[in-house]
Amino acid sequence: MSQAIEAVRPILTLRNPATGEDDGVIDAHTPEDATDMVAEARIAQRTWASWPVAERVRVLRAMRDAMIDRHDEIAAVIQRRIGKAGFEASAEVALAVDSASYFAELALKFAPGRKLEVFPPAVRKGRVFYRPLGVIAVISPWNYPWYLSAHQVFPALAAGNAVVYKPSEHAADVGLLLGEIARSAGLPDGVLQVAVGGPDVGAAIIDAKVDLIHVTGSPGTGRAILKAAAPSLTPVLLELGGKDAAIVCDDAPLERAAHAIAFGACINAGQTCIAHKRAIIAAPIYDRLAKRITEEVVKLMPSRSGEEPVGPLVLPHEVQRIQKQIEQSVAMGAEILCGGQQLEGPGAWFQPTVLGNCTPDMPAVREETFAPLLCLLKAQDDAHALELANDSDFGLSGSVWTRDISRADRLVAQFHTGSVAVNDVLTTATIASVPFGGVKGSGFGRAGSELGYINFCNVQGVVRSPVLLDRDPIWPPYGPTHDKIVRKWAGWFHSSLRRRAKSLLT
Ligand code: NAD
Repeated sequence: MSQAIEAVRPILTLRNPATGEDDGVIDAHTPEDATDMVAEARIAQRTWASWPVAERVRVLRAMRDAMIDRHDEIAAVIQRRIGKAGFEASAEVALAVDSASYFAELALKFAPGRKLEVFPPAVRKGRVFYRPLGVIAVISPWNYPWYLSAHQVFPALAAGNAVVYKPSEHAADVGLLLGEIARSAGLPDGVLQVAVGGPDVGAAIIDAKVDLIHVTGSPGTGRAILKAAAPSLTPVLLELGGKDAAIVCDDAPLERAAHAIAFGACINAGQTCIAHKRAIIAAPIYDRLAKRITEEVVKLMPSRSGEEPVGPLVLPHEVQRIQKQIEQSVAMGAEILCGGQQLEGPGAWFQPTVLGNCTPDMPAVREETFAPLLCLLKAQDDAHALELANDSDFGLSGSVWTRDISRADRLVAQFHTGSVAVNDVLTTATIASVPFGGVKGSGFGRAGSELGYINFCNVQGVVRSPVLLDRDPIWPPYGPTHDKIVRKWAGWFHSSLRRRAKSLLT
């Protein structure tokens, strides 16, 4: 008797970074499954897009309410998978709740479209509509597995798209929980597909020809995805790495700056795209602030004795990378002000580290660091501070510290990043209405704000002619009046009043 051989289904092993141990397995998808998911999403999207916007918004708000009700459960899954402080896991849920409300409002706002001023007003009417694009691929990282996924999935769904969402392979159970919450809130089957797997599954989603790809990840992944999307000309939005700097002027509120920079460097054990990696400090306050920042960072040292402010590194191989960066930078003249060592015991725990006397050529200053490592650089004046801050392959976010608002405005205007916080830290990525994204190697496109919604829309311009002449005066066959009409249009309607008066007199 012949027995059919069943294909072995892939599984994904989860890890607990706090202990470094395996933490169970879950079923994963094959690249073929991912292809099928895109096809199913395409079918489900047609019905979803046909729902009245108020109904789509009702589902989004039900997802928000489910997150509020299940806050503890979601935060616990995030914390177990990423090892971050309990408060930070909880804050991710709160931010996603805010994101759901924000994009629900925007969906209602954009649904009727918008009137456009068109020329000539009497014979043309204009409107712009925000239609769904179709199927969106959302490819997510592990470091903020809930908030960063939700902040893309929600606007994409609200705009009437279906989403094939690939959570990071390092936080796949967090992604599955998002899918489950969406279903429990009434999202129709197939509209949000959660594809579990690694880069091969992500690549299959892209090959299956979606209508837009949103990627949050490392620069290498961004490059690979751009290349894969090129043959089909699929649009790609990239939220990539960072090397954020704080520019601290000599009149800065020092205590606030010290606390904020220590917090900004150590949040999520530095595994944050907008974690502060460089503090560029005005020479007159350098010694004082270096001491205060170091004191604050030392207070965040993990002891492995309970709830820790700074958790483990999720990718153990990052330890070697950061150690090499530190060693090479010290050989070039940097000074370890605190930290610098891996903690004993299981898991990849690394001491929050402050490096003083850094110079722009050091690896710790130049390369992306996904660990709690802060480099201090001394600036002679504001121009020098800007030169140091902008001397980076990245341009994600940053902060400026001064009591002088005009000085802050001048510095912000020349700070080549996608966003800047003034006398504040991390807020550019945590307030839903703030456009957040990068320049240079940090990617392109903006999350949050109206742009974060419009990203997922086919922005359709419509011009209607209410006057139904048999033939408009500028249509062929061309005659002498055609030229007069276009000249009149360009010369008269686009001239200043003075020029118009002059042309009447001559
Ligand atoms: P990563 O680039 O390793 O992976 C990100 C996602 O892309 C994962 O889901 C992964 O499976 C997928 N992927 C990788 N290669 C792929 C391919 N060829 N085709 C399709 N999918 C592919 O990043 P990570 O380690 O998860 O996250 C850390 C990185 O993300 C850092 O560089 C960090 O700075 C960046 N990040 C940026 C932002 C931002 O908003 N700019 C936010 C968080 C993290």
